[in-house]
Amino acid sequence: MGYLQNLNDAQRAAVEHGLEPLLIIAGAGSGKTNTLAHRLAHLLKQGADPRRILLMTFSRRAASELTRRVSRITESVMGTGYAAEALTWAGTFHGIGARLLRDLALQIGLNPEFTIHDREDSADLMNLCRHELGFSKAQIRFPAKGTCLAIYSRVVNSGIPLAEVLIDHFPWCAMWEVELKRLFGAYVAAKQAQNVLDYDDLLLAWAQVMQDPGFAAHIGALWDHVLIDEYQDTNRLQARILLALKPEGRGLTVVGDDAQSIYAFRAATVRNILDFPGAFTPPARVVTLERNYRSTQPILTAANAVIARASERFTKDLWSDRTSLEKPRLVNLPNEGDQARFVADQVLANRETGMTLKQQAVLFRTSSHSGQLEIELTRRNIPFVKFGGLKFLEAAHVKDLLALLRFAQNPRDRVAGFRLLQLLPGLGPGTAAKVLDRIATVPDPLAALAQMPAPTKVTGWEDLIAVLQPAAWPEALGRARVWYEPHLERIHEDAEFRRADLLQLEQIASAYHSREKFLTDVTLDPPEATSAEAGVPLKDEDYLILSTIHSAKGQEWKAVFVLNVVDGCISSDLGTGQSADLEEERRLLYVAMTRAKDQLTLGVPLRFYVTQQAKRGDRHLFAARTRFITSDMLQHFDVTRWAPPHATEAASPAPGSVDIRASMRDMWG
Ligand code: ATP
Ligand code: MG
Repeated sequence: MGYLQNLNDAQRAAVEHGLEPLLIIAGAGSGKTNTLAHRLAHLLKQGADPRRILLMTFSRRAASELTRRVSRITESVMGTGYAAEALTWAGTFHGIGARLLRDLALQIGLNPEFTIHDREDSADLMNLCRHELGFSKAQIRFPAKGTCLAIYSRVVNSGIPLAEVLIDHFPWCAMWEVELKRLFGAYVAAKQAQNVLDYDDLLLAWAQVMQDPGFAAHIGALWDHVLIDEYQDTNRLQARILLALKPEGRGLTVVGDDAQSIYAFRAATVRNILDFPGAFTPPARVVTLERNYRSTQPILTAANAVIARASERFTKDLWSDRTSLEKPRLVNLPNEGDQARFVADQVLANRETGMTLKQQAVLFRTSSHSGQLEIELTRRNIPFVKFGGLKFLEAAHVKDLLALLRFAQNPRDRVAGFRLLQLLPGLGPGTAAKVLDRIATVPDPLAALAQMPAPTKVTGWEDLIAVLQPAAWPEALGRARVWYEPHLERIHEDAEFRRADLLQLEQIASAYHSREKFLTDVTLDPPEATSAEAGVPLKDEDYLILSTIHSAKGQEWKAVFVLNVVDGCISSDLGTGQSADLEEERRLLYVAMTRAKDQLTLGVPLRFYVTQQAKRGDRHLFAARTRFITSDMLQHFDVTRWAPPHATEAASPAPGSVDIRASMRDMWG
């Protein structure tokens, strides 16, 4: 069988493994995803029904890349490729959950027209409840809406009691335990009254449905095979769902790397992957892979050194036969602006040598860290696409239009309704609340709305009622946009520029058969933002990838640049400073480094600004190389410094010649 010939023995064993539960646990770039794709292709070749295979991974993009790979392999084996669409159940836990819940809605007490709140909507609703209970007015500051949501989410996803979550992760909120409990009760009641689910509900409701033996059997029987990639980043709820789907583990394959677990802040737990084998009798078969096919040995040596210091780890060091004389570079730079110039220079230099832009990526800790680089790239006309930033969906005008669609789908969705109604001139929050109250409990809210007289001094009421009426998809979105146009122009001075986003949204929407499916996908897995000024790159155009490290999971590029490899960024100073959080930051750096195939460059700007929450203002920091790369590891790097050629540095040594803070720390190990 030709397609198995390229695999090594361990990979092939995993591909050909039978129906008993299987765990593939191995380090970065060892071919886990590749093996999973081959296993899937192999199953199809043996006659498995693609509609009875459930494939889950961490993003929709990753899922579609995987199905494309499968399709390519089957094409080479059988002459006919399975169109990616044949695998009808490929997606994320949340996406699959949403679909199941909608299918089963009427049987489990949900209204099938439910809408889904993204994190921002959820925080808004939490805030509403906070106000209603009067907690926001307390003398001593009650936790902010985002913190409340984070606490709630952690409790739901981890299954750990509130009191414990507070003590372990939010000690400064522990005094509010009683109030928080009441708040969360109100929040749940509000969601139910409004027929909305938040992200966590998609898992929670699914897990709860699975507790019913009848439903568990029904849902479990939908699939002969369940395959999951990136299992190290799942939480307790997800593990519960999985074990309820396949209690005996038959047909179950999970894949992951404990050293790359980077979602503990969302209650993911590496215990899931470590405990997987023992969940079954006899225990699941475990396959480990030790050869890395992705990176050159010098890159791997440096990455291994970083992760070797991790306190707890199952997977072992990797080796590669891809030799190279080029060590990863660690470049000291005067500041972030210079870092941006340096990266842009290097990207272009790489392109000169024949590397396309698409073969290169720039990674960073949080979305805001790429700001300077985005400006520099735009200035130099280097097109880019940014992954992991939510900018596109967060833009006010995009949210406005989505609020209209959501409200049309589910007129009880208060967050959407509140936003939408206030677009009308003369309609303030008080009136919006009154209108929403009046339709909150009637059987047909849209009809009630249509019968309501226009509130006084409000213009455009009839047009709004008209655009909310049912219409064919995707024309409905076109109509919504036309309705929104005058508001856009009235509200935003730069309407011209924003209009392009709305057209892009319409383009994305046109690929969907229904409003509901479009809204679900766009909420669960937002489309990537592009370099707006440079124009949206066309399909076959070359562009540079900008991505948060979290969103770069599972991917690889010839050249990888990591920005701000300094303390305060990686590791981030936003954590609680607990050692578990630090360990997660170390793994994050490991994930970033192991994305590189041939060339890895870590940027160390010696001064940089962090934009904290608005209250605290911008902070200006003198940075030091990340604590995860200690002096004794520098031998694995080519350490240089770079300053812009035009800078007139006098006789004094250039910034970055000495890193005093790192050396001082190194004294203590
Ligand atoms: P990550 O932990 O980052 O998700 P992974 O273990 O899933 O990595 P893959 O992405 O599957 O690794 O593979 C990494 C690279 O190695 C890919 O380019 C893949 O094509 C290549 N590769 C995997 N197995 C083999 C093999 N047997 N022969 C040649 N190349 C391979
Ligand atoms: Mg992978």
